[in-house]
Amino acid sequence: GGPVIIVGAGHGGYQVAASLRQAGFSERICLINDEAHLPYQRPPLSKAYIKGSAGPESLMFRPEKFYQDQKIELIAGRAASIDRAGHKVHLASGETLAYGHLVLATGARNRLLDLPNANLPDVRYLRILDDSEALRKIMPSKTRAVIIGAGFIGLEFAATARIKGLEVDVLELAPRVMARAVTSEVSEYFQERHREAGIRIHLGVQATSIEAEGGKVTGISLSDGQHLPADLVVVGVGVLPNIELAAEAGLPVAAGIIVDEYLATADPDISAIGDCALFASPRFGGSLRLESVQNATDHARCLAAKLTGDKKPYDSHPWFWSDQGDDKLQIAGLTTGYDRVVLRGDPAKKAFSAFCYHGDRLLGIESINRAGDHMFGRRLQGMDRSITPEQAADESFDLKSALA
Ligand code: FAD
Repeated sequence: GGPVIIVGAGHGGYQVAASLRQAGFSERICLINDEAHLPYQRPPLSKAYIKGSAGPESLMFRPEKFYQDQKIELIAGRAASIDRAGHKVHLASGETLAYGHLVLATGARNRLLDLPNANLPDVRYLRILDDSEALRKIMPSKTRAVIIGAGFIGLEFAATARIKGLEVDVLELAPRVMARAVTSEVSEYFQERHREAGIRIHLGVQATSIEAEGGKVTGISLSDGQHLPADLVVVGVGVLPNIELAAEAGLPVAAGIIVDEYLATADPDISAIGDCALFASPRFGGSLRLESVQNATDHARCLAAKLTGDKKPYDSHPWFWSDQGDDKLQIAGLTTGYDRVVLRGDPAKKAFSAFCYHGDRLLGIESINRAGDHMFGRRLQGMDRSITPEQAADESFDLKSALA
């Protein structure tokens, strides 16, 4: 019993609070929010939001009235330390909050580029609403963007910047784009599509310096000796989970805050969810840290259920999406560790799915402009079923028959 205090008001933190009330939790709920906005959705920051003209309210999960009606106390500020013995959180403001259960939903922060001039205003990142706002504001005065890192966020931004009329170069150290997350078939498709759109993708290279004059960026030098002119640099080289608050309180951390399959840390009164959590997964036979809305939201629901008396191990199926230009990528399952890829549909027709197998076991499906395949994959996984590689490759095989 006792109050639930939630540190971080992103996707995970917001959802725990909302789900607790939905399940009838009647004690105090505080949501500690270190951003100067009501809790909001992050995915549009590198997609529709940066392209459009909608205001920040278009991103909010709920209006302010929701928090008042639901008695969810939004507390502006930062959690500075945890007093585990006293069951208290100290905020940077000096305020102290007592908890019955503490939820760490601190998310992740951008890995920073470690180069001289990387702190100039023309060098930007994309994590929070203020980043997206700032980019939206400066983009009209820019002509040449260099994007460092061809992950989801870098490529989403690249596509948008190109549509907005900028010259765009993307630098990637790996031999293909999104290499950590998707099959080479899907990487190649997107490389081709971005090139068709006029984006120059440089693979196997690193930025070695940022040139500037009078505080303004003029270009980037690459490890292969090339020099690219630029007046805007956007960095998307991954994130670091925010584990320090937990670590300083003596909780075990590694590549995330270590939690068990119930999302509890070593202290049963403290849980961690979302991007910051390295969670035990019996299904995947190890520890995982995922960065997705699905993961943060389903963690939150699982934890809220546990705190209201319905304790079950976390066992949701991962899924993900990314919008790049006109293409929509959707991933059902976790495709890492595959040894066989079967294509359904035709990349030349801009609609196909990569079914990823380990042996005969279907790990996941990466779909491009094939929402039906994606939904099929999620339903199939929900039923713990599979189809054979031969069935996947055979367009005349009726997917629905596998769900019957
Ligand atoms: P976050 O949403 O990051 O929230 C954590 C919050 O905690 C932040 O507000 C942070 O400031 C705050 N915080 C940290 N420390 C403290 C402290 N000590 N005190 C108080 N507050 C603190 N996922 C998808 O599935 N699909 C997408 O298309 C997609 N697109 C994305 C695009 C962008 C630009 C970004 C940045 C992310 C995208 N993601 C996408 C990932 C997704 O947004 C994250 O996985 C998700 O937000 C994780 O939720 P979270 O609650 O764990 O962390």
